[in-house]
Amino acid sequence: MNNPSHRLIRHRIQLSALVFGLVLGLASGPAAGAAAKTKIAKEKQLVLDWLSKPETVEKFGKISDAIWGSAELGLQEFESSKLLADTLEAAGFTVERGLAGMPTCFVASYGSGKPVIGLLGEFDALPMLSQKGRVPKKDPVVEGAPGHGCGHNAMCTAAAAAAIAVKEAMAAHGIKGTIKVFGSPAEEIVASRPYMIRAGLFEGVDAVIDNHSSSSFGTDYGVSGNAIFSAIFTFKGRTAHAAGAPWAGRSALDAVEIMDVAVNFLREHSPLSTRIHYVILEGGEAPNVVPDRASVWYYVRNTDGLLPETYERVINCAKAGALASGTELLLPRVISAVHQRYASKAAAELFQKNIELVGMPAWSEEEQTFAKALQKELGAEQAGMPSRVDKLEAPSGMFVGGGSSDVGDVTLIAPTATIQFPGEVPGAIGHHWSTVTAGYGSLAWKGLNAGAKAIAASAVDLLTKAEELVKLRKEFEDYSRTHPYKPFLPADAQPPNDLNKELMEKWRPLMEKAQIK
Ligand SMILES: [Zn+2]
Repeated sequence: MNNPSHRLIRHRIQLSALVFGLVLGLASGPAAGAAAKTKIAKEKQLVLDWLSKPETVEKFGKISDAIWGSAELGLQEFESSKLLADTLEAAGFTVERGLAGMPTCFVASYGSGKPVIGLLGEFDALPMLSQKGRVPKKDPVVEGAPGHGCGHNAMCTAAAAAAIAVKEAMAAHGIKGTIKVFGSPAEEIVASRPYMIRAGLFEGVDAVIDNHSSSSFGTDYGVSGNAIFSAIFTFKGRTAHAAGAPWAGRSALDAVEIMDVAVNFLREHSPLSTRIHYVILEGGEAPNVVPDRASVWYYVRNTDGLLPETYERVINCAKAGALASGTELLLPRVISAVHQRYASKAAAELFQKNIELVGMPAWSEEEQTFAKALQKELGAEQAGMPSRVDKLEAPSGMFVGGGSSDVGDVTLIAPTATIQFPGEVPGAIGHHWSTVTAGYGSLAWKGLNAGAKAIAASAVDLLTKAEELVKLRKEFEDYSRTHPYKPFLPADAQPPNDLNKELMEKWRPLMEKAQIK
């Protein structure tokens, strides 16, 4: 971030509405209670104690809030990425920036040699979700501007806090190995990890700890999520006076509309796991000029096995649009393409023990009141915040499709599982103002702190207990023999650094003006 203190000050008035007693609540929170019952290795105790310090909680809470305030879209996260990279560098990490062709991608490393433990961290926002923090009704800061509707403001923040805690333990106890934070831009457009893998950034990494903000505290294993092709289809036609001589024109917008209609008919004859959605990026500029250029951005999702055929059928719909309208289909531009997620059972079992050790944060009265008010507004059960961590459950045998994450590709190159940490309000809707509003302030501070503890404790286990890492590696190597990583990403695809540029240039000044200075 260019000027973090400036950003932090912006939120002063909103912050004053929050209960700062949370810092004290955390210091005497569940980790301390659990620590009394279980015998904990001194290295692990150090990371838990370091993360429990009120100044640590506050420091990373403020980083999360600053990223929340910047709300930068994928590959435009210049301030968010810089704030995180600078924080890690100041803590003694070696930071490489602008990696894999993406200005906002970074890797921060501490230590040397094996084992190498990687932490994933995301920080991008979503379009159209601007919302004030901690207000239990829809109330945008800037109508239509981006917002953090998936909790990514807290995620690389949790990874950075965990990594620095692990570094403290490594230095204090002479732990050998390397801890790395993979600053991963643009998860919302599933766009960074396949490029990072292609650039060799994950080479030599023995295990990966991923994290995601959630309303619960848990982890999972097995195959989940859909694979995806994200691609832009552009058509080239011929302009003409739309009333004077329409026969002289060839409408590129017609091609887009015919393609969309054809794809919508395709749904009826597609397996249940299929998800296809689109937005029209360009559709002409005025009705009286036949548009000579139009484009549509598709997410085509399915299982790894079904995706190539599904994508092929969508391409055929595009060709049909071009043929019927007499326009030309320019090659689909693949923004990204990723696999399903294959989370490691051995990793999830290890992470679960540390999630149980850390326990659910204690939520304050004020936080419970806010959560219930938000739940009431959404028509959800007014149950407040959860009191217990989740159990680790076997994956469901039924898969009917769903979202995608570029973490999928990472799970195929190193044993990986995700620690879902709390802070979001149960009943709040993902990619919606209700998630944005809870992502600011003490709920996120506490949630990301609990997540950082589980991440750091798991990293300490993997660095200090060779037998734990062997379990993860063996499971992974057995699986990889029959499922070697073959990227879906075409070899000539390039990171879409331009995709959100105009949008962010439009919103950034308006957001800066609207924030409280
Ligand atoms: Zn997300």
